[in-house]
Amino acid sequence: MKEIVRPQEGESFDIELEVDLLKANKKIADENMDLLKKNGIKSIDVMGSIGAGKTTLITQMVKELKKNFKIGVIEGDLTTTIDSDIIRKQNVEVIQINTGKECHLDANLVRKALKKLDLKNLNLIIIENVGNLICPAEFPLGSEKRIVVISVTEGPNMVLKHPYTFREADVVVINKIDLAKAMGINAKKLEKDVHLINPKAKAIMTNSRKGEGVSDVISNLNL
Ligand code: MG
Ligand code: ZN
Repeated sequence: MKEIVRPQEGESFDIELEVDLLKANKKIADENMDLLKKNGIKSIDVMGSIGAGKTTLITQMVKELKKNFKIGVIEGDLTTTIDSDIIRKQNVEVIQINTGKECHLDANLVRKALKKLDLKNLNLIIIENVGNLICPAEFPLGSEKRIVVISVTEGPNMVLKHPYTFREADVVVINKIDLAKAMGINAKKLEKDVHLINPKAKAIMTNSRKGEGVSDVISNLNL
């Protein structure tokens, strides 16, 4: 007789749990995407480490895009509202999600945020994920496009060390390009790494603080 391994009470099988969790997340992500499409809303999510420049990029994009779009922003953060306070100054609708200890957004949290937005009056939603370049890649949220932001201050191997993250990106932003020389970083090499991991992704160098490269990011999203 083959031995059957079963979890004892109170013990969970991490791997099975994870498969179920990811399946459930994917289902809700698909529903989010349907809901957005039904309402004629385009959607972008933005991933990157803490300090890479996600909020700065989003703020600059909103400044430009609000001329043509009615924008809602969903801001993911562990406990603070620092970023949503910055973006709200652009007079767009902002919903904060505080994840507590969770290091990523998931489709269910985004679904809750979508319920709080006036979808009838929006045609573009931008989602800033929690600052983290690893596990958010496993949790699609239901958005059409994904921007991944890295900065040259994060070192020379950000792309090669996070292949799963970059494989799902439509646009990769290489930010703080003004600091590349001081950091001893070859930004062209980062760009090459992006194309090695994901030949379909566009890599764009920016100095988001000054708005440089931001119009390129926008045009490559084909909104
Ligand atoms: Mg931020
Ligand atoms: Zn996480």
